[in-house]
Amino acid sequence: MQRAAPQEFTRVLSSMCTEPHPVAREAAERFLATNPGDPATYQQIADLERRAVETLGEITRLDAPHGYIASGGTESNIQAVRAARNLARRDDPNVVAPESIHFSFQKAAEVLGVELRIAPVGDDYRANLDAIAEHTDEDTVLVAGVAGSTEYGRVDPIPDLADVAHDHDALMHVDAAWGGFALPFTDYAWDFADAPVDTMAIDPHKLGQAAVPAGGLLAREKRVVDALAVDTPYLESTSQATLTGTRSGAGVASAEAAMRELWPGGYRTQFEVSMSDAAWLADQLADRGFEVVEPTLPLVAVDVPESLFSALRERGWRISRTATGELRVVCMPHVTREQLSAFVADVDALR
Ligand code: PLP
Repeated sequence: MQRAAPQEFTRVLSSMCTEPHPVAREAAERFLATNPGDPATYQQIADLERRAVETLGEITRLDAPHGYIASGGTESNIQAVRAARNLARRDDPNVVAPESIHFSFQKAAEVLGVELRIAPVGDDYRANLDAIAEHTDEDTVLVAGVAGSTEYGRVDPIPDLADVAHDHDALMHVDAAWGGFALPFTDYAWDFADAPVDTMAIDPHKLGQAAVPAGGLLAREKRVVDALAVDTPYLESTSQATLTGTRSGAGVASAEAAMRELWPGGYRTQFEVSMSDAAWLADQLADRGFEVVEPTLPLVAVDVPESLFSALRERGWRISRTATGELRVVCMPHVTREQLSAFVADVDALR
């Protein structure tokens, strides 16, 4: 019996994951039983992982990239903190980040015994350089910025943050877990070629349209990945830099397949469609008198009354809110103009 196509995404407006591209879905299934955690044994998936990392390097304009396909942005962020801590060897290490940073940094700090110093953002929801500099000192091992923030889709002033980090002999990490596949097509076209950034998170399983789990950790220098490696006596491979041990080849293969299919033309086209949908939605909501945070990447945040938010959820819309209460709509590839029109019609009916 043929199974019905999954309906998971029909009213999902706040997720940062999406329906995988058909080629990604197919590749995931084919490599489901492989373990890139043991590349000497599973050589074909290891080759695909090398290719995936090379393409991530092209997307972010990093020559000779080091890194691997992680389980997601959380793992990449934890690993960036871990590498910085291991390399710096400070007695009392700290990480400095803007308050817009993803909550995975709280996990990193807790697991790794590193102090997380959160600096306020400016009115534009981006990292404030003075605030970041004030929080940074001789025990800072990492400064983190975000390129595509989870709540507002904002991009921090990365080159300036990198200067602050390096003035303090700390590493600079960019969390582009969500925004990484959109940045090449924007005015915020920040990438490794523009700033001396050390590490970056960029997730194929978000805007890259790969199947979950497929995150990306990139490093400019091999020594950073080496700082994560432990010996692996019982495997054919002799060392492992990943946080997870056995991991799914499905994510790796789907990331490689999605990027081979979509980079650059497919991602550009999708970005243009999603961005125009986000701008349309922002206009529609503003026309109705709601306060909208203008999208700079395909993410719209809008201030709606609590009662309307709850009524929309009851109608089946899968929506979430920022820490200060705005409703977020993330225009992921599965979100169509038709869906957004139906959403706006429900806003009209329920307000
Ligand atoms: N970083 C950013 C900017 C995110 O938006 C997210 C998740 O949405 C993450 C990190 C965490 O990624 P994951 O849930 O894949 O671990």
